Amino acid sequence: MFSVCIYCGENKPEALEACETCLKAPDSHSDVIHSIIMSYCEQETYLNFICADELEQFRQSVINGSPIKINPGTFREAEEAYSAVKSMRGPQALKHFSKISHPVMVVTLFVFIAVLLMSA
Ligand SMILES: [Zn+2]
Repeated sequence: MFSVCIYCGENKPEALEACETCLKAPDSHSDVIHSIIMSYCEQETYLNFICADELEQFRQSVINGSPIKINPGTFREAEEAYSAVKSMRGPQALKHFSKISHPVMVVTLFVFIAVLLMSA
């Protein structure tokens, strides 16, 4: 798994850690969510918020200094999964997710975020 730095476009190993190239770490809520969306797992692609093509497009936007156009729905999903993982752990979180319309999708998001947070 790797993450594209939302400040300079270089790869970094973890979404929430400081970038080795520009030394910046996501600090605002919106930067944290963007960093999570810009993470990519080659082994388990179903966990990713965006596909490899989109990831490269976003990387180009960062490098060119243009704004990253993340689909608002994707942003909301990432935000919801992230806040749920942060505020709840284990069975409680799964109970929360079971109320959401696409439980399978959301559980994979949950796993993805949990992996991100545990390795950070
Ligand atoms: Zn960077």
